[in-house]
Amino acid sequence: MSEPLVIIGNGMAAMRLVEELSARALGRYAIAVIGEEPRLAYNRVLLSSVLAREIGSNEIELKAATWWRERGVTLLYGHGATAIDPAIRRVRLANGATLPFTKLVLATGSRPIRLNVPGMDLPGVMTFRDLGDVAAIEAAAAGGARAVVIGGGLLGLEAAYGLAKAGARVSVVHLMERLMERQLDARAALMLKQAVEARGIAVHLNAETVAIRGRGRAEAVVLKDGQELAADLVIVAAGIRANADLARSADLTIDRGIVVDDHLRTSRPDIHAIGECAEHRGVCYGLVEPAYEQARVLAAHLAGEDAAYQGSVLATNLKVSGVNVFSAGDFLGSPGTEQIVFSDAGLATYKKLVIAEGRLTGAVLFGDTADGLWYLDLIRSGASIEAFRDDIVFGRALAERIQLPDRLHAEYVPVRRTTASAGPGVATTQIRELEDGLRQAC
Ligand SMILES: Cc1cc2nc3c(=O)[nH]c(=O)nc-3n(C[C@H](O)[C@H](O)[C@H](O)COP(=O)(O)OP(=O)(O)OC[C@H]3O[C@@H](n4cnc5c(N)ncnc54)[C@H](O)[C@@H]3O)c2cc1C
Repeated sequence: MSEPLVIIGNGMAAMRLVEELSARALGRYAIAVIGEEPRLAYNRVLLSSVLAREIGSNEIELKAATWWRERGVTLLYGHGATAIDPAIRRVRLANGATLPFTKLVLATGSRPIRLNVPGMDLPGVMTFRDLGDVAAIEAAAAGGARAVVIGGGLLGLEAAYGLAKAGARVSVVHLMERLMERQLDARAALMLKQAVEARGIAVHLNAETVAIRGRGRAEAVVLKDGQELAADLVIVAAGIRANADLARSADLTIDRGIVVDDHLRTSRPDIHAIGECAEHRGVCYGLVEPAYEQARVLAAHLAGEDAAYQGSVLATNLKVSGVNVFSAGDFLGSPGTEQIVFSDAGLATYKKLVIAEGRLTGAVLFGDTADGLWYLDLIRSGASIEAFRDDIVFGRALAERIQLPDRLHAEYVPVRRTTASAGPGVATTQIRELEDGLRQAC
């Protein structure tokens, strides 16, 4: 017999959790997934490619409806959860139905930050987070519209590229002195700016937005220096905030996100959080790989295995066709580290590798990023690079001739397996209640 496990959010973390659970503990839980987006879970990372018309929106579904059915998962999409009552272990849905749980997982992702400036609520001011946003942006960008993207990070640049490809006249407004400052050093950021400008996108750095001006809808973005950039649409890509609304209703501990321990447990042991809504050791991750690692560890934990999540090494790839950028780990180089730099202006290639105590700790690549994942592997494994240090900047092909030690390919996430426990007692009544709740919700 199974016990009721409710997952709130049908995004990337939720899908991976179900996948991992079905491989480890199928049958142990009766799983219900509640998602407010009116569709099956999809690959959010590919939204930029959808906007750029490189793939269709129907091609990014993560799993077909049959996949969920075959695993006995009840999917309620198009249904938002509105509250959690931890005392009676029930989740309330927007339509008034309630679902019981013995275990609850919050996988509610993030919400885009809207700037606190006048005009943010004007029609024509949009965000870039889901398929609904993509449809709205596409409709507004048709016919050579003027678009201003606020934010020169990964998301802002991908939005700008997609808009430019769709025929819009695009400007990017960025508060900082360089693009993607959280992933790139000054040199790579300058090369990126040149590559973006070469695609017809204007870039304004050190540019603070103080208002969106318009009568009835957005007409211009007003900068602190007095400049006004005419706009038919404005995309705000100025960062994300963990979506912790529901956790608040359950009185869970929240800081920047829903605070979790190494077992992805919130301040209530029967409620877990994974993905972008979670804060682990003070960090809220905004990328999919940590969400997947957390899903794997949580599935192992829920299956009774001895598993702990210890944080993730971040790596970023920009998805702008023809502009290859990769960054991972300590890309700036903290005090006491050494750097190997390779640069070829003719090939528009730049590589910086950061080394500490004979190990690779960070990398920034512009142009030729083919070895990015290999460098990431080295950073994650913490293996010594001394044997091939002289050649490392030239990439894997050369270094492999010098015989890499096997441990470089070791898996990073430290999931330690022990014999699975028999699991908690049967929860027949709660299963029945879960089924009743689901019937009511449908
Ligand atoms: C345009 C774009 C490009 C990106 N590119 C990259 C990239 O190149 N590399 C990378 O690593 N990451 C990228 N990301 C980030 C990546 O998509 C996220 O890290 C990942 O989706 C996080 O998964 P998640 O499950 O935590 O959140 P999400 O995938 O956002 O899923 C959360 C889901 O929960 C639902 N939800 C929220 N509240 C409720 C509620 N109360 N009731 C029911 N459902 C609810 C939401 O509607 C949403 O569907 C990108 C993101 C965007 C938007």
